[in-house]
Amino acid sequence: MKCPSCARGELEPRLVDLVERWQRQRVIIKDVPADVCPECGEHVYTGETADRVNELIRSSVGVGVEVVIRRFVPKSEDELVAAMR
Ligand SMILES: [Zn+2]
Repeated sequence: MKCPSCARGELEPRLVDLVERWQRQRVIIKDVPADVCPECGEHVYTGETADRVNELIRSSVGVGVEVVIRRFVPKSEDELVAAMR
């Protein structure tokens, strides 16, 4: 699939680390399956992946927590294999 951002690169499936800010906290989610553009670095996620990342972020934060590191857990082995292809 061509990159929707630059239309030059061919998207490649990768596992990436996301850093998100949520309120005053920083949440790092590791090993998120994404399609990455080698040309411009654009990351494209499926809607389901985005939903689960948001859920992980919301469930990670708490009073007094500054940095949270979570690992994205695939729902099934198939999803992990698909992400690694
Ligand atoms: Zn691109």
